[in-house]
Amino acid sequence: MVSETSTSKATILVVEDEQVIASAVAQRLTAEGWRVEVARDGLTAVDAAARIQPDAIVLDVMLPGIDGLEVTRRIQAERPVPILMLTARDDETDMLIGLGIGADDYMTKPFSMRELVARLKALLRRVERTQQATVAAPSEPPLMMGDLVIDKAQRRVHRAGVEAHLTPTEFELLVMLSSSPKTVLTREQLLAEVWDWADASGTRTVDSHIKALRRKLGSDMIRTVHGVGYAFEPPTHAMVEPA
Ligand code: CA
Repeated sequence: MVSETSTSKATILVVEDEQVIASAVAQRLTAEGWRVEVARDGLTAVDAAARIQPDAIVLDVMLPGIDGLEVTRRIQAERPVPILMLTARDDETDMLIGLGIGADDYMTKPFSMRELVARLKALLRRVERTQQATVAAPSEPPLMMGDLVIDKAQRRVHRAGVEAHLTPTEFELLVMLSSSPKTVLTREQLLAEVWDWADASGTRTVDSHIKALRRKLGSDMIRTVHGVGYAFEPPTHAMVEPA
């Protein structure tokens, strides 16, 4: 249960077809004490994720066979795994963020190994915190706001009676926003609280997750305050009981 222990025993799947980058990343992550497996194409990555159940995945977008987007879809359909996505250019990152796919963080090549390690550590800490929170609050009653139900103990969310399948990061972001209704939280605040990541360069990651939450739960609940951040507007309509 000591956080250092489980973080250092983490298993990381590295998906990268460029041999030089794959080796360098694998070497660096192994030096951190993590178990590392490398996959060189998308289908191998999906198989490896099912087999080794990694704690996090470093995933290159441009891959032979199926690309990083499809890999993300297939892996997340089985089990929510935190994904740090590697892109070739900033505009590629923008495009992916626009799509609101389920990656937790993005880095543009070339990146520093130090930053990669720092971000992975932040990802793993978040997952761990999430697991501890679940264990700590097994009997906390679900939070009900209009037709929205957030069950922290079960980590499940329903809107109008329909379950929304959120990634761990999306869930944490929703919990954070909904804990301060009608209050504007800046992207930097959200980044620090949810991502455990103090660098403001990640604010676009916040935007992509807001987009995903709106897609999954409806666009009326989270208000954009331009140039500042986001505010949670609790749904006012109670759930309509089926006739
Ligand atoms: Ca590639």
